[in-house]
Amino acid sequence: MTSREDVRRTTTLTADPAAAGLSRRRLLGGAAAGAAGVAVLAAGQPAWAADAVRPGARTAPKLRPGDRKVVSAIRPHRALRDLRALSEDIGPRIGGTPSERAAADYIAAELDRQRLAVRLEPFPVADKFLADIGDPGGQLPDDICWQAGASPDAAHGVKVAGPALDVGPADAPRWPTDAAATTGAVVLADDTQSTDAAARVVARAAFVAEAQRRGAVAVVLLPLDQAFPRRASAASLRLVPTTGTTAPPPTPTAAVPVVGVAQVQKRLLREDLAVRPLRLQVSTTAHRGLTSHNVIAERPSGRRGLSPLVYVGAHYDTVIGAPGANDDGSGTVLTLELARVFRTIGATEAGIRFALWGSEEQGLIGSRHHVAQLPQSERDRIRGAFNNDMVGTSWEPATRYWLLSFDGRANATTETVASAATRLGYAPEISEVTERGSSDHQSFQEQGIASANFSWRGEASPALLEPPYHSPEDTIAKNISIDRLTVSMELIGSAMHDLATRR
Ligand SMILES: [Zn+2]
Repeated sequence: MTSREDVRRTTTLTADPAAAGLSRRRLLGGAAAGAAGVAVLAAGQPAWAADAVRPGARTAPKLRPGDRKVVSAIRPHRALRDLRALSEDIGPRIGGTPSERAAADYIAAELDRQRLAVRLEPFPVADKFLADIGDPGGQLPDDICWQAGASPDAAHGVKVAGPALDVGPADAPRWPTDAAATTGAVVLADDTQSTDAAARVVARAAFVAEAQRRGAVAVVLLPLDQAFPRRASAASLRLVPTTGTTAPPPTPTAAVPVVGVAQVQKRLLREDLAVRPLRLQVSTTAHRGLTSHNVIAERPSGRRGLSPLVYVGAHYDTVIGAPGANDDGSGTVLTLELARVFRTIGATEAGIRFALWGSEEQGLIGSRHHVAQLPQSERDRIRGAFNNDMVGTSWEPATRYWLLSFDGRANATTETVASAATRLGYAPEISEVTERGSSDHQSFQEQGIASANFSWRGEASPALLEPPYHSPEDTIAKNISIDRLTVSMELIGSAMHDLATRR
């Protein structure tokens, strides 16, 4: 199914947003907001009239001419189309692997269509070890992704299948009394739980060796449940103690694949296995010698010579097992849509760089690489870099739009977003400037460049992230509010216009 057709099928025309019943409740309404958000999308139309009270806002906007140009050019259905391409057609986008490259190519093609000068910036990243879980009987729900982590220290490039056999905790496994039951089985076990990391790895390796000795064809390790609202992610679990940076041994220590699933995958596997037999297929792939990419598209300034620069961006990679609809498909599609919006807007004083970062999830690698190779004279031209990481969750408690600054201080990006929020009627919804790194704004602020991260999160703290975060449930259906995403596009687009047009 093409994403374009799918958008059309789920859209209805809403000329008058007030009549469509846009309400605070709808914006804040969790899963309902996601569904409603998609339902009101009209192909070729803005989400609402420029002067309408926005979803979740209490006051009417007081737009400047520049804001008006931006908000009336935003088309949410185009952002949704991009989000389907990234989170559904491509899925998880693991730094340096072909999935991330497919996303880079999609992003570059979209930016190229806006007649921007687009370039891919390559940089090396660590090896990746990925797994896929399949059920040939089609018993498991297919509305989440079944990618998982493969252990670097076990078998790769293999595909095996067998009946699932749950032996409980790997620290005290309950092996079947009938030895034949383990032969040929895909063994499931709760991962080892020692608080000492090295002891945990040693115990895990001993368990895998025992499963292998008993004839298991694969081992699937189930994570400990995390405290709400967190849920454990899929992981590439070690069988050899390391400091975390050492390369995996050239020869795997286990001859069978060893897979680390996410918490939601554990729950679904056990729910199915509790009521009927389940046959699983496990395949693993090692990706080595990897290159990840930033995608940078440049819109020239309207003035001659060296101009000021404004950056807007997001990371487009994901963690293992996560389709990354909100983290950070949302920021990626915001950036792509603003590239389209600014094409309709006349020349600005500042040049604009639309920047999509690779391998953020492995430690801000792409954005740090980019800033490191910028000459100081170019860094000095940057008025601000707007970073957008997780800007469209449908999680009901995520009612605050956070202004997150690595050094905790206000700068040109937080100031222009705060004043855009006031003009759009969102002043009560935005946070104070709050100290927090852990996304690509940090790479800029580390070098003294004005930047901040902008993101919808829980009221009490920017650490309050939605339950699907870094999980197979980070999908459009389970974790995207088109309304919130559109508000984010309006806030950042208006702030960028303000900063880029200053004389
Ligand atoms: Zn992110």
